[in-house]
Amino acid sequence: MYQYACKDNKYVLSLDNHVSIIEALTKFCAEKGILSGSISGLGAVNTATFRYLNPATMVYVDKTFDEQMELTSIVGNISRKDGSVYLHVHVTASRSDYSCIGGHLLDARIFGACELFIEDYGLEIGRSPDPETGLNHYKF
Ligand code: FE
Repeated sequence: MYQYACKDNKYVLSLDNHVSIIEALTKFCAEKGILSGSISGLGAVNTATFRYLNPATMVYVDKTFDEQMELTSIVGNISRKDGSVYLHVHVTASRSDYSCIGGHLLDARIFGACELFIEDYGLEIGRSPDPETGLNHYKF
């Protein structure tokens, strides 16, 4: 599902073709016991699903784009919620006409390559629902 190199608390990660980015990242963080950290990277995918939260209605709207896109930027963080890996990942994706779409990444499937850079902060950082926003905020 992935290959990686590691020095100190930093990982360079190459995900296999055709895998789900979120599934592979979750597995990697669980296997390495990463409790918190940062994610950056780039890649290419042929399907991606984004989630948009309308703050006025608190309704989530998910939308899938089935097309070849470059992930020009992957940025995210790693924490834990109820003991399990909790990822928060945003991406920008460029289309064949070079326009960009993006947002909160629910998942995407690699078609090409995906190269990620992960820093393990070595801190236990959890998540809990914020009463005002309903979002899972950091819990320090
Ligand atoms: Fe988000």
